[in-house]
Amino acid sequence: MTKQTPRVGVIGGGQLARMMTPPAINLGLQIKVLAEAAGSSAELATTMVGDYNQLDVVREFARTVDVITFDHEHVPLAVLRALEADGVNVQPPSKALAFAQNKLHMRQQLGELGLPMPAWAEIHDAASLDDFIAANGGVAILKTPIGGYDGKGVRVVRSSVDAKDWLENLADFGGSLLAEEKVDFVRELAQLSARTPGGEFKAWPLVETIQENGVCSAVMAPAPAASAETLAATADIAKRVAEALGVTGVLAVEMFEARDGRIVINELAMRPHNSGHFSIEGSVTSQFEQHLRAVLDLPLGSTAPRAAHSVMVNLLGVDDKNNFVQALDKALQSHPDAKVHTYGKGARAGRKMGHITVVSDSAEHALAEARGAAAVLLRG
Ligand code: ADP
Repeated sequence: MTKQTPRVGVIGGGQLARMMTPPAINLGLQIKVLAEAAGSSAELATTMVGDYNQLDVVREFARTVDVITFDHEHVPLAVLRALEADGVNVQPPSKALAFAQNKLHMRQQLGELGLPMPAWAEIHDAASLDDFIAANGGVAILKTPIGGYDGKGVRVVRSSVDAKDWLENLADFGGSLLAEEKVDFVRELAQLSARTPGGEFKAWPLVETIQENGVCSAVMAPAPAASAETLAATADIAKRVAEALGVTGVLAVEMFEARDGRIVINELAMRPHNSGHFSIEGSVTSQFEQHLRAVLDLPLGSTAPRAAHSVMVNLLGVDDKNNFVQALDKALQSHPDAKVHTYGKGARAGRKMGHITVVSDSAEHALAEARGAAAVLLRG
């Protein structure tokens, strides 16, 4: 039988879907996007606008593609399970996504696998939270299990009084909260990898993620001064997670490096991730190309670096008036090494509006150049 052009359907019209578009074009794949609104970041590939919470909308979209994948993790599991029951090819499958959607389920599952994690507990009431705080040095990180992102749904608590509003509305969070030991970490790390339904697995080198106000501001690839043992250990963690949870496509494992040397898992993302944007210029195969290959069960590409160092800096909105067009010529003129990516999103303070990557022999030079170009773009 002659092979047809594979058609990938992405649910969600954000910047991740947008950045899957160039490699889809290069590989000769068809990419279609179900966007939540007209004028989304992935406008160029959008073939349908509709609500991903509605099964009939998602079903209609699924009929036009060979595989369904995602720009975000918010499609209800009930919708995904119904698609799978229809025989739709969903990658990653709902059984894997269940762990990315609920931080409590993720902790339970990783605990069963014996993977390194902060101490944690499921919290049903004030008394169990106060007990956990007392057992963990008088402080805890409290999280809503569902729906948090970029630090929303994460709080430092020293008493159950600090979480009164959440404890009074537990039903909004699925009935319980997640308490974690407040890890005394020296830095945050992310291990990016990809796995195909057929079981092929490849990892990129470990990266360091730098956060400001709970949002990633920069990524250093590879993570500076990581030992060979650390690199092997974190790649092995990703492999074990991907295999045990049945993850397909790109998997990002966010981790903390604690002051006492432990490396513990913070959370999982089952899609291309901000920590992997550097790979567009920094790796033989970008995370976006790899995600497409993986969900289509095509052979994975090399994850080898193309330069000694890659640094990515996020363009976070300063106010609602940012317009990169104003300063684009100036930024390109003053920073010819910088690769500028903008997402076509409306400006808002703190919003991820784009990113800049610089590859170099020197990590310091790459960081300075990327930050310099970002400053010109954001401040004109
Ligand atoms: P989100 O899903 O909103 O990204 P995260 O679980 O990644 O939330 O937490 C956001 C940030 O809060 C982390 O990047 C880290 O800086 C801090 N944080 C989260 N969990 C812990 C923890 N157990 N100990 C110390 N800091 C934490």
